[in-house]
Amino acid sequence: MPDVPIVVLYVSEHYLRGLPDERIWSESYQKPFWINLIHGVHSVPLTLLGVLVGLGLAAPELTAFFASALLHALEDLPVHNRDAHRHFLPLSHYRFISPLSYWDVAHHGKTVALVEALLVLVAAGFIWPRVSTPGHAALVAVGVWYAFNYWKTFLR
Ligand SMILES: [Zn+2]
Repeated sequence: MPDVPIVVLYVSEHYLRGLPDERIWSESYQKPFWINLIHGVHSVPLTLLGVLVGLGLAAPELTAFFASALLHALEDLPVHNRDAHRHFLPLSHYRFISPLSYWDVAHHGKTVALVEALLVLVAAGFIWPRVSTPGHAALVAVGVWYAFNYWKTFLR
């Protein structure tokens, strides 16, 4: 869920406005609305607060939602270089500039993306027996998406 605003931004700017990728990331992504929204939903304190509210309300779905968002933020922290999020909003605007990137080949992007894809594959194998057919379709879609994007970004 924390990356949904990025998907909405990309789809609207690329497919509706016809902007090239470079302008989307260098201009649209940097606009205050988008950067604050994206960084806000990647906030460790805010997602942790959501977990605590979910626990306080005894709402397991809410707790799981925010725990998932928290894990996403913690996973993003070590794999963003120049595009690092402000993971400690609203307490701090600090950005951890990792030496690793999940996409930038200048910061080991090809290896990091491969490790990430393999971790997703292992996680999918763990989840597979625990979900029904729509869950299997989602897992296959995620696998295809990772494979396509790896090919598009690093192999073509
Ligand atoms: Zn993210």
